[in-house]
Amino acid sequence: MAEHVYRTGFGYDVHRLEQGHPLILGGITIPSDGIGTVAHSDGDVLVHAICDAILGAGALGDIGTHFPDTDERYRGANSMVLLAEVQQIVSDAGYQIVNIDATIVLERPKIAPYRTSIEDSIRTRLNLGRHDVSVKATTNEQLGPIGAGQGIAAYAVAMLRR
Ligand code: MG
Repeated sequence: MAEHVYRTGFGYDVHRLEQGHPLILGGITIPSDGIGTVAHSDGDVLVHAICDAILGAGALGDIGTHFPDTDERYRGANSMVLLAEVQQIVSDAGYQIVNIDATIVLERPKIAPYRTSIEDSIRTRLNLGRHDVSVKATTNEQLGPIGAGQGIAAYAVAMLRR
């Protein structure tokens, strides 16, 4: 079978939101009146979805296989460090990241004021160009648990080039 030059991958993650936790997205701490993600790591749901998209594009497993949440080394882990490790994993397999597009789903706070900072944080960590990382945000229109403010989800796609 011929090796494909370009490959796409998809990632999804969700975390519960509770009082007394930080809300960290793309390595940026978002002011959120003390409501943040409950997680073994820093709960950066956006970066977790992006890691899975990158790994998925390379058919290289997922974030759970590389950084198991049963492993004490990853308690409170900075997800941006894991993101850099994921880039190294696909690089070792002969791929470079072309671009990433992601959507965050949560009711509040509004992400729009932090969108550019989040994009800059991710693309800087991955050494990607200005238009190579896109982060969008939407509410869940008050539908379901995410709509009730009980959780936050993120979806991401990534493209790799051999
Ligand atoms: Mg996660």
